[in-house]
Amino acid sequence: MAGPVKTEAVVLRSMRYGEADRILHVYTPHRGRVSAIAKGVRRTRSRFGGRLEPFFRLRLELHEGRGELLTVTGAHTVDGHPRLREDARALDSAARACDAVGRLFETEEPHPGVFNLLCRKLALLDAQAADAGSDGPPPPEGRSPGVATRAGGLQFRLKLLHAAGLAPQLGACAHCGEPEHLVGFSGAAGGVVCGACEAASFPLGEDAHGFMVQALAKALAEAPSASEQTLGQVERAISETLEHHAHLRLRPLVGRAG
Ligand SMILES: [Zn+2]
Repeated sequence: MAGPVKTEAVVLRSMRYGEADRILHVYTPHRGRVSAIAKGVRRTRSRFGGRLEPFFRLRLELHEGRGELLTVTGAHTVDGHPRLREDARALDSAARACDAVGRLFETEEPHPGVFNLLCRKLALLDAQAADAGSDGPPPPEGRSPGVATRAGGLQFRLKLLHAAGLAPQLGACAHCGEPEHLVGFSGAAGGVVCGACEAASFPLGEDAHGFMVQALAKALAEAPSASEQTLGQVERAISETLEHHAHLRLRPLVGRAG
């Protein structure tokens, strides 16, 4: 497998290493998560410029040697998402999206759909940051930026669960198959549960159930809206699913006021 590798990639993390180098975690369409070293990147006049930073979408040229780390030999910007970097809320969302991808898909197993989903998420955050900076009309009632950001973050996580084969069962009781009277959610059972099976579940409202169905069905640019309370139930459902089936805890998506 040694030799040159060309791939598209999104930079998930970029860490200082030694005097002038950086270690990157990048996510690629066909090689999953890849770790690579970029040498001399912190010198002024580095040929990489500032583009080996988180949230950059790049065309990378890498060299694969015998070690685990690949070496970056070339980098061309596909999209640097410059507007996202000017907006604290968008930056925070982008960091959480990259963190979730890096932790849920940490191997070399290829998931091109996850790569595309992450690219769409970053492009959307970049576009939304641009909108927030313009003097547009105020958001409609119940769509404060904080709530909308959290809804978008939860939708992204649901789509990641789906890509990982962990999508919660939403069409019928995950325990007994009962199609109606679905009143709870059980991470252990892997989805919604009916009244008879509700032990070890927590109450899940119709709105939260509906949000999850809609979020999985709709594009990222059409994130369904919901109240803070509903989003809290959805976040708990995602968290318990991940804890039971992937032994993973993601950073909470706190809906900030405003
Ligand atoms: Zn049941």
